[in-house]
Amino acid sequence: MKDIAMTAETTLSNLGLTDADLTGGPLKVTSPIDGRLLGELQETPAADMDAIIARSKSAFKAWRTVPAPRRGELIRLLGEELRASKDDLGALVSWEAGKITSEGLGEVQEMIDICDFAVGLSRQLYGLTIASERPGHRMMETWHPAGPVGVISAFNFPVAVWSWNAALALVCGDPVIWKPSEKSPLTALACQKIFERALARFGDAPEGLLQTLIGGADLGKALVASEDVPIISATGSTRMGRAVAPIVAERFGKCILELGGNNAMIVGPSADLEMAVRAIVFSAVGTAGQRCTTLRRLIVHNSIREDLVARLKKAYAGLPIGNPLTEGILIGPLVDEASGAAMSTALEAAKAEGGAVFGGDRVTDGVPAGGVYMQPAIVEMPGQSNVVKTETFAPILYVLGYDEFEEALELQNDVPQGLSSCVFTLNMREAEQFLSPAGSDCGIANVNIGPSGAEIGGAFGGEKETGGGRESGSDAWKAYMRRQTNTVNYSAELPLAQGVKFDI
Ligand code: NAD
Repeated sequence: MKDIAMTAETTLSNLGLTDADLTGGPLKVTSPIDGRLLGELQETPAADMDAIIARSKSAFKAWRTVPAPRRGELIRLLGEELRASKDDLGALVSWEAGKITSEGLGEVQEMIDICDFAVGLSRQLYGLTIASERPGHRMMETWHPAGPVGVISAFNFPVAVWSWNAALALVCGDPVIWKPSEKSPLTALACQKIFERALARFGDAPEGLLQTLIGGADLGKALVASEDVPIISATGSTRMGRAVAPIVAERFGKCILELGGNNAMIVGPSADLEMAVRAIVFSAVGTAGQRCTTLRRLIVHNSIREDLVARLKKAYAGLPIGNPLTEGILIGPLVDEASGAAMSTALEAAKAEGGAVFGGDRVTDGVPAGGVYMQPAIVEMPGQSNVVKTETFAPILYVLGYDEFEEALELQNDVPQGLSSCVFTLNMREAEQFLSPAGSDCGIANVNIGPSGAEIGGAFGGEKETGGGRESGSDAWKAYMRRQTNTVNYSAELPLAQGVKFDI
């Protein structure tokens, strides 16, 4: 069993990060757990960007011709290296992002899972064969590698989001340039090292298949602006997506946007409340409310509202908050002071909009000094006011009541974001309506499970301000390739489509 008291220094060194990686640079990385300095990193000079992109372009020229199943072998090796480093990388996710041990390890497991998926996918990059209207002709579509993929990622899933993109992009034949969050560059450096170990075992891969950029938004902007990076996969706030999307559109690049969420659960009168409570608590307070799929809005039938809220308050009162590396702790810190302040500001706004707040105070007893630890909050609201429609990246659960199921659906959909959603009900009419075209407008809609904690097999992403991108499973791989339609004429005639005559 992993030693939960393992120091950050041991974790970093087990992952192959040396003093040369961790000292002497201007980017100070501190742990949200206790504010300790984890590293002072060199930043990637902006002046290097042209050379980095050129290296990726030349890697593309070689990698696109490597057979896809052979490309899959690299990802198989990456999966093996991740398995070997799971405990250390999981611990580093905890140190850098503040996740509890189980969630840090779960994030690495998700990376392993997507590697397995991508290895299988490397033999399944299928195109269709299509019936031609012309005699002696055959039509088909072929999927080709698209070019360098720029991956911009957020602090809260510092490594899983990279792996969703990288595992798929690499089997699809695309090199990756990764700009991780400036709040979580250490886990990114560790992934680069893990990837390099897989590359060394693989043997003959071109140089520059994965390049990791250390620094802030400006490096991301350079990637976004480059015509030599045809695909930008950007995960983060809606604010970031609004800045990125027009620039990529202007140059006719392709964007995969994974932006903010404001996820709801409808609880109907027939719901199994025991199960609902467990799902609500995990979804609303897990990762201290810092998941894009965190449950933020509870839309509960008025006949059970009082009972459900009382059960939730009881559960919230006993939640263990503290050092996320300590066994039994369920709620770790927020990522920084600004996040704590944003939570307090949102709670003040909720009060001003008529909300009754339970919890939400800063915790200072029994938690490491130097971290931002907050009690999760439950806020009973008179209606879906502005603050409820805004994503605050903290553990705040707004509670709204309803009488008719239609009303609940309207509340669910009446926010700018469209990532994840769910209904708790034993009434199959409600369940099916929720999943129907007239139901949830989100990219993810669940029945009798919470909105967070997706599996990699499905396509992940959401609508509206969430950006419309899809990553991970199903056919999300198609976004990393270009589709070519081929028509082959094996006849001795040259008929034109639609019966057009053009005799010369
Ligand atoms: P953020 O938007 O502050 O930063 C995300 C990344 O974008 C960072 O790497 C940052 O350096 C970069 N960036 C910022 N401005 C940029 C610009 N103009 N051009 C290029 N790059 C730029 O987000 P955050 O605080 O790290 O993460 C939290 C947010 O991410 C939340 O809104 C959350 O919902 C969202 N998120 C969404 C998903 C999803 O899959 N939908 C997953 C994780 C997080």
